[in-house]
Amino acid sequence: MAIDRETYHEILTELDGKVRLVAVSKTKPIEDILALYAEGQRDFGENYVQELVDKQPQLPADIRWHFIGHLQSNKVKYIISSVHLIHGVDSLRLLKEIDRQASRAGRVVDVLLQVFIAREETKFGLDAVELADMLKAVRREPATAVPDEWANIRIRGLMGMASNSDDPDMVQQEFRALRELFDQYFPTAASPVSADQPPLPSILSMGMSGDYKLAVAEGSTMVRIGSLLFGKRP
Ligand SMILES: *Cc1c(COP(=O)(O)O)cnc(C)c1O
Repeated sequence: MAIDRETYHEILTELDGKVRLVAVSKTKPIEDILALYAEGQRDFGENYVQELVDKQPQLPADIRWHFIGHLQSNKVKYIISSVHLIHGVDSLRLLKEIDRQASRAGRVVDVLLQVFIAREETKFGLDAVELADMLKAVRREPATAVPDEWANIRIRGLMGMASNSDDPDMVQQEFRALRELFDQYFPTAASPVSADQPPLPSILSMGMSGDYKLAVAEGSTMVRIGSLLFGKRP
């Protein structure tokens, strides 16, 4: 197995420091991750809790681990101390559990809400109404908020997956719909961590190996690319 160094550097050149690259290393061995790390890559994405738990201690501590899979509430505790960004939050129950476990671990965890944009039945995510409801529940007026509730999470933006389709117009429309929701709810930057710190930039995670160029053209700030870098998965 080998990584595609040339493609890696081509993609970085294309992204031009404006869009963050998450290298999706699910199912790929430690050696491949280390090879890309040696090229300078620090953001890696994993889909399965057990795989992340196994790999993380075997790899350099400055890797930023992105959890991009469907996360079950009862497994949050296993990744809470090692994860940098959780991309796929699609229920209030899961968000509450992340907040609770982050509080126990004494940290603040960044998350993205996953929005369903594809015209396929199998993908997870919120629809536009559910997204609005969830943000309303979390972003209540400070006066009515329960003290400390949501103190250990930061909703940094949105994540979505387009249809697995050969029709670029359809994929483009799906990305555009997500970008419009992003602009609506995350206009410039996420709320400041505290009054004396600047606001954090918001994150729009969209685009994979087959469609990242379309995603970037539609305003993605973070792409998740696996097979172009590591080769096809079994
Ligand atoms: C596997 C996966 C990717 C990477 O897919 P490639 O087509 O290999 O680039 C990106 N995002 C999510 C959510 C994934 O599950």
